[in-house]
Amino acid sequence: MLSEHEIQQYKTILLARQKEVNQQIEAIASWCEPVAPDQALGRLTRTDAMQDQQMALYQRQQLLRQQTRLKTALKRIDVGTYGICPNCKQDMDTRRLDVAPEAPLCVSCQGK
Ligand SMILES: [Zn+2]
Repeated sequence: MLSEHEIQQYKTILLARQKEVNQQIEAIASWCEPVAPDQALGRLTRTDAMQDQQMALYQRQQLLRQQTRLKTALKRIDVGTYGICPNCKQDMDTRRLDVAPEAPLCVSCQGK
């Protein structure tokens, strides 16, 4: 079981990461807009712009997934189930939580 103190530490990290992810999502939002055919792009060609957009969309997908994980982890702190794998009900390894406090499952369940 995690101590109250440990949980507070993870919560601080989770909130900081959530803020970061939200900022990143906002930062790339304009890249995700559809590329207008007659857009004045300077030295960029339309193909380049579309490739950038593809990358931005992919990146945003990753960020949104991360955002969901962070949100879920924070919710589990609120309801008092944080640090316990929801699948096998075992305590999560703190070494894992130190690296990824938003990890939804323990190592063995994640690997399945
Ligand atoms: Zn598990």
